[in-house]
Amino acid sequence: MYDYIVVGAGSAGSVVATRLSEDCETSVLLMEAGSSDLEPDDVTQIPFLWYSLIGSEKDWGYRSVPQKYSHFAYKNEISYIPQGKVLGGSSSINGQNFVRGSRNNYDQWKQEGAVGWGYDDVLPYFRKLENATQTSYRDSTLRGLHGPIVIKETNGSILQSFHHTAAMEIGFSTVDCNSDNPIGRLVFSIQGDHIKTVT
Ligand SMILES: Cc1cc2nc3c(=O)[nH]c(=O)nc-3n(C[C@H](O)[C@H](O)[C@H](O)COP(=O)(O)OP(=O)(O)OC[C@H]3O[C@@H](n4cnc5c(N)ncnc54)[C@H](O)[C@@H]3O)c2cc1C
Repeated sequence: MYDYIVVGAGSAGSVVATRLSEDCETSVLLMEAGSSDLEPDDVTQIPFLWYSLIGSEKDWGYRSVPQKYSHFAYKNEISYIPQGKVLGGSSSINGQNFVRGSRNNYDQWKQEGAVGWGYDDVLPYFRKLENATQTSYRDSTLRGLHGPIVIKETNGSILQSFHHTAAMEIGFSTVDCNSDNPIGRLVFSIQGDHIKTVT
């Protein structure tokens, strides 16, 4: 018997189970269809290799139907739709780029009836979960400094620096990709530590 049963140990389920279990009087069962990723030599422990996990046993292996208007470079115009099937879910096979999404999308959802899901409604939770102290935009009122997820700016390869120079030459300013204006040369951030939400 459990007080709560959470099905799916992905990004959402792991956090829900973790938060519920912070009350030591509460019992929580977290169920996951995929395998563990906790072995020290597991590929998910090396974030840069995320791409190699697509199509592996840690991916549900979904495919799109043949597309009529896109994916012309794909065989039969069929696309991969990777979804994590492993402890940590898609967060264990993802690229770890820390992207919240655009303010406009949230505000449009609110206008369409999703009360409580406008950007200003969810912003306090974004701020609460992140620790942006190791970034150049840490003082922004849009960013959080005391949350459990540490984020860092990417170091960048030499190719990235050429790309940035080119973007500046054609007039893009440098912006935080999670700011209100995400159009420009992005200061990309990644989840600094390889976050394992479940232990
Ligand atoms: C390849 C890839 C790259 C990505 N890159 C980024 C990125 O760089 N930045 C970013 O912000 N986002 C990225 N994402 C998206 C992000 O990872 C997902 O949006 C997020 O993890 C979704 O969380 P979720 O909890 O909704 O689902 P998931 O994390 O997918 O969790 C669902 C879990 O439920 C389990 N499950 C499903 N059915 C059952 C069942 N019947 N019984 C038990 N368990 C079940 C699954 O196995 C899985 O573990 C990426 C996603 C992928 C796949």
